[in-house]
Amino acid sequence: MSIKANLQVVLDSLPKDVMLIAVSKTKTIAEIKEAYDAGQRHFGENRIQEMAEKQTQLPDDIRWHMIGHLQRNKVKYMAEFVHLIHGVDKLKTLKEINKRAKSCGRVIHCLLQAKIAEEDSKFGMSFEDIEKLLQSETYQKLKNIQIDGLMGMATFTGNTSQINKEFEQLHLFYKKLKPLYPQFKTLSMGMSGDYKIAIENGSNMVRIGSAIFGNRS
Ligand SMILES: *Cc1c(COP(=O)(O)O)cnc(C)c1O
Repeated sequence: MSIKANLQVVLDSLPKDVMLIAVSKTKTIAEIKEAYDAGQRHFGENRIQEMAEKQTQLPDDIRWHMIGHLQRNKVKYMAEFVHLIHGVDKLKTLKEINKRAKSCGRVIHCLLQAKIAEEDSKFGMSFEDIEKLLQSETYQKLKNIQIDGLMGMATFTGNTSQINKEFEQLHLFYKKLKPLYPQFKTLSMGMSGDYKIAIENGSNMVRIGSAIFGNRS
């Protein structure tokens, strides 16, 4: 099927209040343009430089999401244009984002990445460290970032009850924090293989790549 047709299938499967981020990492400008021409505006990339290069070649009304692990020294390449940074897992990174946002005269929106998977390969903070960060004076002084919520990735497994349990834990934690941090509005969970389970567990932002663009080689 075409990218346009895939995109429509995915969109038709999403409840209205769930936002779709089309994950275009490794995909070409022409492929991204096809999704854009079909109406998609939010795209996700996992490498800062790749995203920055694509950004210059594509229309200005695209909203770019950084979903990958962040290298602090590269934050400057996206500070001017990034729409939402999903993978923040250190106060130090947040400070760097704040500094770069300030020099562009922006407030950059971020999500804190929670570690919910069993795999060691997945990044993210413990729930306890997230609470500590949010309570820290250092964080509260940062005026050029806004934390909109949380992001998490489940274990890569066929065991749906495990995936369900991991998403459920993050949803419960999100619901615990939301009344304390009124700016919280986003729970980013779910990829091509597990987004339906994520939505059952309260996700309102899904990051979907291969189901739209096909497998990455
Ligand atoms: C690649 C990636 C996705 C999309 O994965 P698909 O399985 O292709 O849908 C989602 N989130 C993150 C953080 C990713 O790196």
